[in-house]
Amino acid sequence: MSEETKFECPNCHSDNIQSFEVAYRNGVTTSSSTTTGLGVGSGGGLGLGTAKTTGTSVSQIAQEVAPPAKKGIVKKFLLIGIILMFLLSAILGSVSNTLGSIGALLGWVLSGAFVYKTAYLWNRDVYPQLLDQWHHSYICFRCGQHFTI
Ligand SMILES: [Zn+2]
Repeated sequence: MSEETKFECPNCHSDNIQSFEVAYRNGVTTSSSTTTGLGVGSGGGLGLGTAKTTGTSVSQIAQEVAPPAKKGIVKKFLLIGIILMFLLSAILGSVSNTLGSIGALLGWVLSGAFVYKTAYLWNRDVYPQLLDQWHHSYICFRCGQHFTI
């Protein structure tokens, strides 16, 4: 008996509950299977062959209780930066070449500001809260309810 079972589901009062952390760890399993085949060759001889397959499988439960992920900063910055750079340099570049160069630079500055606000600050302020909440989250295996303790 694990220590989780002293709590119960607030919805159906079942004690068949598990923390997200444990459920996730149990759900992501490395499976290994060996297939053995026996065959009779055309010359009448017997042949034995084995095939081994290994892989990591993520169960549906594991996907449901997966920990929160941090937002990617570099990829987002580059993607938005490139789009804004082309867009602004094209728009302002139709006025003058100098403005076009400023527009390209402005694209990167805006991208940086946007990513700082939406990803960097999110990772710094929101992500720890979500992770903390995740550590206190439980799933009920009877009714599927998610709840925090
Ligand atoms: Zn329940």
